[in-house]
Amino acid sequence: MSGLVLAGGGHSHALVLHRWAMQPSKRPRGLITVVSRTSRALYSGMVPGLIAGIYQRDQASVDLRDLADQACVALVVAEITGLDIQNQQLQLDQRPALTYERLSLNLGAETSISPAITAGLVPIKPLEPALAFLSNQDEQMNTKAFEAEPFQVVGSGLAAVETVLALRQRWPRRPLVLRLRPGCLHPVLIRALENAEVQINETSEHEQTEQCQTTAGLLCTGSKAPHWLADSDLPCCPNSGRIRTEMSLQVIGYPKLFAAGDCAVMDAHARAPSGVWAVRAAKPLARNLEAACAGRPLRRWRPQRQALQLLGGFQDGEPEAWALRGKRILGPHPLLWRWKTAIDKRFIAMFQRSRSMNSSAAMPCRGCAAKLPAAPLESALQQAGITTLGTNPEDAAVLPLNPAVGTTPVLQSVDGFPALVSDPWLNGRLTALHACSDLWACGARVLAAQAVVTLPQTNESTQETLLAQTLAGIRSALNPQGAKLIGGHTLEARDGLAQPPLSRGVQVALSVSGQAVETFWPKSGLQPGDRLLLSRPLGTGVLFAAAMTGAAPAACLDLALEQMGTSQHHLLEQLLDLQTEHPNAIHAATDITGFGLLGHLGEMLRNPGLKVVLNGPDTPALPGALSLLEKGYASSLAPANRRAWSLLDNGSVHLQLVDIDPGSKTNQAMLELLVDPQTCGPLLISVEPDIAQKLRSKAQSPWTEIGNVQLR
Ligand SMILES: Cc1cc2nc3c(=O)[nH]c(=O)nc-3n(C[C@H](O)[C@H](O)[C@H](O)COP(=O)(O)OP(=O)(O)OC[C@H]3O[C@@H](n4cnc5c(N)ncnc54)[C@H](O)[C@@H]3O)c2cc1C
Repeated sequence: MSGLVLAGGGHSHALVLHRWAMQPSKRPRGLITVVSRTSRALYSGMVPGLIAGIYQRDQASVDLRDLADQACVALVVAEITGLDIQNQQLQLDQRPALTYERLSLNLGAETSISPAITAGLVPIKPLEPALAFLSNQDEQMNTKAFEAEPFQVVGSGLAAVETVLALRQRWPRRPLVLRLRPGCLHPVLIRALENAEVQINETSEHEQTEQCQTTAGLLCTGSKAPHWLADSDLPCCPNSGRIRTEMSLQVIGYPKLFAAGDCAVMDAHARAPSGVWAVRAAKPLARNLEAACAGRPLRRWRPQRQALQLLGGFQDGEPEAWALRGKRILGPHPLLWRWKTAIDKRFIAMFQRSRSMNSSAAMPCRGCAAKLPAAPLESALQQAGITTLGTNPEDAAVLPLNPAVGTTPVLQSVDGFPALVSDPWLNGRLTALHACSDLWACGARVLAAQAVVTLPQTNESTQETLLAQTLAGIRSALNPQGAKLIGGHTLEARDGLAQPPLSRGVQVALSVSGQAVETFWPKSGLQPGDRLLLSRPLGTGVLFAAAMTGAAPAACLDLALEQMGTSQHHLLEQLLDLQTEHPNAIHAATDITGFGLLGHLGEMLRNPGLKVVLNGPDTPALPGALSLLEKGYASSLAPANRRAWSLLDNGSVHLQLVDIDPGSKTNQAMLELLVDPQTCGPLLISVEPDIAQKLRSKAQSPWTEIGNVQLR
């Protein structure tokens, strides 16, 4: 077993991470991992403003990936599905369980749904699907039916009031109904709802059943802790499912388990589930996690009896707020809203680091951007007497087998890099997909792989966890293509004690072997008239360079990682199918990796009688990449890769700008995109125009035509 696992990226854990980012000496030693189903954790205080449309998602979220990076803690983005207390394992969806030595739970809650209320309504918690449901509703906003069809909110508490008032701001003319149990709301709030033209429908649960069936709506009917907590045999409250804790925030009877926020309740001082208490629990939780990991005595925390709550609302389009403490209520008043806004913005601003591009320039990039530049590589190969490997490179080598064994080429390649991400499973998967792509680019199926995994110098149990996760990640990439991990070696790094997060100290290299199905696709088989097709957008290099200073938008990194983690072996199969119909359909192919599109295009252009015309504006970029390049962000490998711009000067590649001003920032960003190093980058193929047309016209085709080949 190893390390501390923080399950859930709730308010308490976000603040614990913030404390360790600001005061690294307080962070416990060893492997620390935070697991969350999303990389962005919504801040509850701003949720009504988000529903009302006055905040965007990023303004109301904590970027957990960046926060974990700052705190030197590993982030695993995954759905937790269960807890195996006996084996000290947190079970995850579609990937192996995580072992822990100590576990802290801050998972929030889900809307409790009474069977009496129809299943047709969408629960407000978890928030992400509820927000997606509201966005779907928005799509019908300009239709007549939308303004006629009432939308209902079911619930008798403050969350229901805040939600329905925020919806009034979002949809000024749509009929809104609040269904609640009789006598639950303060008359002040009832008046505010009436002023906002919300129809109040006080009904019994039984009556609600029939009325709820008719229209779309949200359920704000209280909350309960995730069901799998009770299934794991932890001591939970029978109704709410919240985990019962001591005043130290340790789970009763489980000294190595801690819990805080809505998913937990302290036996001695029970408080209602609320973001305020999740925030207040953060400091005592952090202190006790630090003490427990260091073997020091824990402290008891006695929460205040009551907390002030600020409830946001809207009147005639203007924001206002109420202050509530116990049964007392003050407001509504615009000044209270300004106070609430100031508190909320201060909370979110705490997590945003001040950005400096210089610090990104000083930090060498990881992933495939950690490759040696082309110039020293070529020079070293020359000195070693193997010049052809530099001047005539293929993506994979054909093994010099005895022809008697068979005529189909057997191919081999090797690739690897220092961990790009702090999640060892994902890192294993990305490295394996990146290595396999060398074989796919030659028209070969991957059959087997061997891995060399270098682990950081740390205790054995942490090394065991890191290795197990890494190998599982590698296998997750190999198994679906029918390839096997047939061997390998492990090493322990000898560059001193590893820095946190320890998972970033893992280095994986894979040798992959496979067999070309018919013919080996060469890099340099370009023919005049060919079209160049790219299988996915560029930009991973700059996104991960900017991520080192927190400048890459979280949603853009999510999309980049989703693309990188998607295997391209299906594309190989598609091309092989095409080849059975049209032999020699693929004239040339490669994959875009460390040297960027232009660098690899240069390797394809070995025939001096040919040139490539690139359609600059058609070259696809990952969301966020071009704007970061425009701002001056770049991978640390980019300066060396810019050597390939000489292809533009010597006429080997002609870049069509269409309507882009040559002196503009847009043009400069495009030039930078062409030399951006890629991890798990696209395949690039050169094919006849009718084959290109065939590939592009397929449903959901990933191929983009980025240029063509011409005689010089
Ligand atoms: C409309 C609305 C408005 C509200 N307004 C306020 C307010 O103004 N002030 C206030 O104090 N409270 C408010 N609340 C209540 C507040 O949202 C919660 O009390 C608060 O978010 C609880 O914080 P937490 O840290 O316990 O968990 P959460 O903030 O819910 O965070 C839990 C985290 O764990 C992650 N997670 C959960 N399950 C899993 C899983 N299985 N696998 C992986 N990750 C998981 C989630 O993605 C989430 O990031 C509001 C609630 C609603 C519905």
